[in-house]
Amino acid sequence: MGFCVNCGQQHPDGTKFCRYCGNQQPGEPLLQRLRMEAQQIHAYRLQMQAQQANPYQQQRRW
Ligand SMILES: [Zn+2]
Repeated sequence: MGFCVNCGQQHPDGTKFCRYCGNQQPGEPLLQRLRMEAQQIHAYRLQMQAQQANPYQQQRRW
């Protein structure tokens, strides 16, 4: 089951258009792209956390 991205009504998996409002639903290619973007964002955040957790990379000048 999925939910319409526009009106939020439930519809079966694989539905191309919402039967309640007619809005086009994201297909598998778009879902794959969104998953890839989510992985990239996750990797980027891990990288940022690793840099913050390592104080020896910061230069101290005093
Ligand atoms: Zn809808």
